[in-house]
Amino acid sequence: MHDLILRPSHTTLAVGKMLCLGKNYEKHAREMGGEVPADPVVFMKPATALVRSGGVVQIPRVSREMHHEVELVVVIGRTARDVAESDAMDVVLGYGVGLDMTLRDLQAGAKKRGEPWTIAKGFDTSAPISEIVPRDLVADPHALSMRLSVNGEVRQHGSTADMILGIPRIISYLSSVFTLERGDCIFTGTPEGVGQVIAGDRLFAEIEGLVTLEVTIAERN
Ligand code: MG
Repeated sequence: MHDLILRPSHTTLAVGKMLCLGKNYEKHAREMGGEVPADPVVFMKPATALVRSGGVVQIPRVSREMHHEVELVVVIGRTARDVAESDAMDVVLGYGVGLDMTLRDLQAGAKKRGEPWTIAKGFDTSAPISEIVPRDLVADPHALSMRLSVNGEVRQHGSTADMILGIPRIISYLSSVFTLERGDCIFTGTPEGVGQVIAGDRLFAEIEGLVTLEVTIAERN
């Protein structure tokens, strides 16, 4: 049920753990009112958070403020731990565009109280992910243009060239703590322009020239 779709074959792959970076773009770190952290901010989403293109993102009843964050998603192709930066790209299966849907009101409360972000980031449907493009079709994952529109209006437009930590550093760091497995996903952070969505909104995310993702927003039923 919680499967990624792989191009070009359209075969499925069970999604594993989703590891997500916070504040990996300087302008987004600043719009959130913080500094760029010295060490990566990492949080997780469970497999049950996955939504595929065409699906519905549901706002849980505990929140009144859901935000969009468009991100490059890196999918892992094989078991790996303690990966050197020089070997990191070998463990990548492919890439997609994802939305790190966030309950900003709950996250703000958790930050204030020093509590975890588990609910704010990991609720059901918090992780829409497009079809996955094989790595060989992506010449340079650090030169991808990303865009997110809400009801046809562009809200976020950024480049993976602006990531603070690049993919080799991210994989090396994460694999020093977590064993990475085939089907695991890494959300690599969002550029500036995050904002609220409400029930009825239609979101369209894309990595230009590569892949698209469409979801609609609804209240949890
Ligand atoms: Mg994010």
